[in-house]
Amino acid sequence: MKTVECDVLIKNIGQLLTISSKNVPLTNPNRESLGIIENAYLAIKDGKIIDSGSGRSRIDADRVIDADGCVTLPGFIDSHTHMIFGGKREREFSLRIRGKEYLTIMQEGGGIKSTVYATRAESSEDVFETSNRHLDRALAWGTTTCEVKSGYGLSTEDEIKILEVAQMLEKKHKMDIISTFLGAHEVPEEFSENKKGYVELLLKEMIPEVSKRKLAKFCDVFCEKGVFNRRESEKILKEGLKHGLHSKIHADEFSNIGASELSDKVNAVSCDHLLYTNEKGLFSMKKSGSIAVLLPGTNLFLMKKKVPPINKMRELRVPIAIASDFNPGSSPVIAMPVIISLSCLLYRMTPEEAIVGATINAACAIKKEDAIGSIEKGKEADIVIMDVRNYEEIPYWFAQNRILYVIKRGKVVAGKKRRNLN
Ligand SMILES: [Zn+2]
Repeated sequence: MKTVECDVLIKNIGQLLTISSKNVPLTNPNRESLGIIENAYLAIKDGKIIDSGSGRSRIDADRVIDADGCVTLPGFIDSHTHMIFGGKREREFSLRIRGKEYLTIMQEGGGIKSTVYATRAESSEDVFETSNRHLDRALAWGTTTCEVKSGYGLSTEDEIKILEVAQMLEKKHKMDIISTFLGAHEVPEEFSENKKGYVELLLKEMIPEVSKRKLAKFCDVFCEKGVFNRRESEKILKEGLKHGLHSKIHADEFSNIGASELSDKVNAVSCDHLLYTNEKGLFSMKKSGSIAVLLPGTNLFLMKKKVPPINKMRELRVPIAIASDFNPGSSPVIAMPVIISLSCLLYRMTPEEAIVGATINAACAIKKEDAIGSIEKGKEADIVIMDVRNYEEIPYWFAQNRILYVIKRGKVVAGKKRRNLN
């Protein structure tokens, strides 16, 4: 008997990781939190998940994908990237390998400033083309939603240029893009003697303009020694809030100047990096319900041994997400499965914590938990099928692309098996 019709039915799923829960974000996730259904099916209609369960489905489908016993899970969400930039910084990479410090390179005109120079010099079309290709690569590794920050323009015009490119990518690329205004990424050269003037520009011109044009959902700030101090960061984020932009903080990455302690003052949705965070910062995050977004690719690329206080986060039940921090200087890593492996290897996160951190908790970090991040009825059908039989293989096969299918809103958009279907 024909029951419900669907557009796509995925059958023979070895392990379906639903990661569904009433209470998100998840703290201290374990195997149970993954909501595993063995020998499962998943039905999709009009781009949404309509059913899932164990055994054989009685649902009639237009198209059937045989998962052949493989692991199927929600598409990865990269909740922290600097995807849109001009130029590249491989020279700097060589210098760092030879022993030069990142902050020294930055003071000598390299680092963020050199990318600002390159990004300003390129046309919107060129920046769009490069970012579009980056997104293709991310998609091929199973990322179906991506947060993208501005911050390599640092003038009203150039910041808007970047955010408009993000808007164009959101329209034209299969990936969903969430935009963040990060005008407070660095003080631009022309304001090097007048930081106050740049903060004024952020407050009086850039934030209102970005908000008026509806170019961003979040406002972020690099709260760090030598960049923006706590007082300046608080002012900037509060102005963002006044203009409808939720707060994010680049916090405690190279030092602790109390960045994460700002969390409850600005109602931060996430605090990111957190290598030098202490209990005080974590308490503040707990109070404001902030997600800790950890970026192990940056650890690897900056060859830093310092790691975030994971045990303290577990003890205080601070929810953790993981992201790539994809950028041309400190993390050219774009693949979320690689980030999952690095979270385990460098931070000793468990595979369960890392998978939750790349799916539902990452959805919370961009305030999209109602639509994506888990496999539940009514959510977007953003799904990946990987060539593994057990989810613990995901971090284990380090840097091997085992993605068979990437499904975005019910359509196969990437993956090794894609050509068999389209
Ligand atoms: Zn960042």
